[in-house]
Amino acid sequence: MADRKVDFLVIGSGIAGLSFALKASKFGKVLIVTKSNEDESNTKYAQGGVAAVVDKSDSFEKHIIDTQIAGDGLCDVEIVENVVREAPDRIAELISYGTSFDKEESGVYDLAKEGGHSAHRILHYKDITGYEIERALLEQAHSDPNIEIVTHYFAIDLITQHHMGEYVDKNREDITCYGIYAFNTSSHLVDKILSKVTVMASGGAGHVYSSTTNPTIATGDGIAMVYRAKGKVRNMEFMQFHPTSLYNPKDSPAFLVSEAVRGFGGILRRVDGESFMEEYDERASLAPRDIVARAIDAEMKKSGIDYVYLDITHRDKEDIIKHFPNIYEKCLSIGLDMATDVIPVTPAAHYLCGGIYVDDFGRSSIRNLYACGECSSTGLHGANRLASNSLLEALVYAHRIFLDATKAIESIHYVTNVPDWDDSKTSLSNEDILVSHNLRECQKIMSDYVGIVRSDFRLERALKRLHLLYAETEDFYRNTRLSVKLCELRNVIQVAYIVTKSAMLRKESRGLHYTTDYPQHSTVLQDTIF
Ligand code: FAD
Repeated sequence: MADRKVDFLVIGSGIAGLSFALKASKFGKVLIVTKSNEDESNTKYAQGGVAAVVDKSDSFEKHIIDTQIAGDGLCDVEIVENVVREAPDRIAELISYGTSFDKEESGVYDLAKEGGHSAHRILHYKDITGYEIERALLEQAHSDPNIEIVTHYFAIDLITQHHMGEYVDKNREDITCYGIYAFNTSSHLVDKILSKVTVMASGGAGHVYSSTTNPTIATGDGIAMVYRAKGKVRNMEFMQFHPTSLYNPKDSPAFLVSEAVRGFGGILRRVDGESFMEEYDERASLAPRDIVARAIDAEMKKSGIDYVYLDITHRDKEDIIKHFPNIYEKCLSIGLDMATDVIPVTPAAHYLCGGIYVDDFGRSSIRNLYACGECSSTGLHGANRLASNSLLEALVYAHRIFLDATKAIESIHYVTNVPDWDDSKTSLSNEDILVSHNLRECQKIMSDYVGIVRSDFRLERALKRLHLLYAETEDFYRNTRLSVKLCELRNVIQVAYIVTKSAMLRKESRGLHYTTDYPQHSTVLQDTIF
């Protein structure tokens, strides 16, 4: 692919990008660029399912309250209402695209219950819901002549007035996105893609940490791009650590043992076999993720052992295999039978609650740029995401962006004077070791100092070290021929910096952000905006 012009440019082929594309394609040509194989995304690995009020015994009010309790006071109430109330329509669409959800013998949906939910409301397909959704959405996209998906194509930077020689700073209110510069991994050239509307759907940033459940694509690229373009980013200190990834040091990414296992009766035990969650929260093993992750972290620090156990051995073997075939197989592959053996589990970076600041129609602070899915911050999750609300958020916002963007596009025109990418001052490097070393170092800094339990001392230490890595990597970036790994490193370091600075600015403990220096809530409720 060389330089292009498109109506709708979508960065990312997970649930957010594909859901938007399937709607926008009725109004113009959609180009999806994606940096790996077309299905490689956080979406593909989602296990538990999608939350929505489907059962008569459940209610919107209950789902709204559960979301707000998890969000620990920082959810935008209006946004929570919108998302929860629009959920059934978006789920119906997903089913119309060919997504299957498990049903009981009676024909009603088999709704699971997960931590923090007061009702059974999780639609799922076995324990591979994300795989099923991604399959169905891709199948639809392939049959749509107005959607083109280009794989192994890496979005580097947003094109704004800055590239046309104008001064752009964060106070400028008319920063406009005209498209992107993107690295074509086959030609090794940087192309310009001009667009009327751009939708950032680039997913999360788990790889800012050493241990994560996210696939390797999750390097925070979209957030770093918006930050560099002087757009607004919000609440980045709220990284959710999944309490129960399978403890197996050989796995990267860490394999997730779904929350649904605890919903199915799984009990967390110390290595001596004693159940411990009752000591931390009255909801015991079904407490929200942040509480469970901190409890496990505390137990691991006390015992000096890198895991605790999850015990589901009291449930029937056939039932376990029926509900969790994927997890069962994975455990078996490392010599554990979930029906008879306890599972060693440990927390891992899992979901980024903050991200690119957007309004109720997914509009970012940069004109003609929308953001959808995990890379965005809509206000739904507040300080902590309720399990299975993120696939839902992507569906609802893909629709809302579609409603706004298809109207807005009528008055948007391409720009003509965008310069080509200039790499004349760069040369090939034989120091690629710097890239892999600096990535590992950054991830280690974040896991050690900006993890589940933080303090001023740890955050300051992290920031000093990140400054060094930043300076070194920027210098390398300016002088070296591009590679995907180098671009990702740059993005990871920038996101790590924003997470750390945001954590320093929050002088309280709330939701996923826990600091020993300010263990209580502050009386002032506020977002951290960058
Ligand atoms: P993704 O699905 O991650 O897609 C991002 C896309 O952007 C990818 O195609 C990627 O290649 C592309 N991309 C990224 N950077 C670039 C770039 N620079 N250039 C070009 N392309 C780029 N949520 C739930 O609601 N329920 C669950 O049960 C659940 N379980 C989960 C289990 C696991 C193991 C994980 C990792 C996550 C889980 N989540 C769950 C979270 C949920 O899966 C994600 O939040 C959601 O899928 C994000 O969708 P997305 O479309 O925003 O991003």
